[in-house]
Amino acid sequence: MIPKDHPRYESLVTREKLVEGVKLGVTALQGLIAHGRGEAFDYILGEKTREFALKAEKAAVAALLLAKHPVISVNGNVAVLVPKEIKELAEEVNAKVEINVFHFSKERVKKIAEYLSSFGINALHACDAELKGLSSARRIVDSKGILIADVVLVPLEDGDRCEILKKHRKKVIAIDLNPLSRTARMADITIVDNVIRAVPKMVEIAREMKNTSKEELKKILEEYDNKEVLREAVNGIIEYLETVKKSL
Ligand code: ATP
Ligand code: MG
Repeated sequence: MIPKDHPRYESLVTREKLVEGVKLGVTALQGLIAHGRGEAFDYILGEKTREFALKAEKAAVAALLLAKHPVISVNGNVAVLVPKEIKELAEEVNAKVEINVFHFSKERVKKIAEYLSSFGINALHACDAELKGLSSARRIVDSKGILIADVVLVPLEDGDRCEILKKHRKKVIAIDLNPLSRTARMADITIVDNVIRAVPKMVEIAREMKNTSKEELKKILEEYDNKEVLREAVNGIIEYLETVKKSL
């Protein structure tokens, strides 16, 4: 048991969830390493949802609400970190959920599907189609999901697949704590925030935006500038480090 008053309670609980995920065969061991890189960036971002992330989260919800075939892609980390919130977001924006993993095995995909189903998520995982131009297992998709999607939300993406999704003319929304990653720079909308904060925040935003007109949603998207948001994120890190430096 992690004591509630531990200064790193949130972070420790998150790690426990991922370790449990590995034991269940849902999360890949490599997922733990990826999370570590994410945590390091979260640390130097001040471990909270910053203004640039909020801006991207709003644009992302607008894009999902405007989409014809929105799909939320889920891997072994996302499945154990925010299953309840993924279900809520999918319902709010009327999106499909699809399982898509880098470290592929039929058995693992089945375990993730069963895990998600215990949270009431009926995730696509037919693995009956291919995204041409990609050699990793991320190319294996569902013909009713990512293959025909126009907007794909990819929390914790790999740079290569992000590029291919773009080549297949899909609008890509990434959640990535590293504003320098290939994914972050390749996506149309990059949310530089922890998935454990970003997804619940997007559910909240989606509920608020429910009655927003299409014109208003389009305007939010038109005014959104991802390069600017990434610059703000890098500045956010610099400013945070400057503040810490002054306090030393
Ligand atoms: P790229 O291929 O895009 O250059 P990478 O190779 O550095 O990125 P991957 O290992 O492909 O990264 O994916 C892990 C990414 O996910 C990292 O950039 C990390 O910052 C991010 N990440 C990990 N855990 C979280 C989390 N909980 N919330 C948000 N981002 C996270
Ligand atoms: Mg990568």
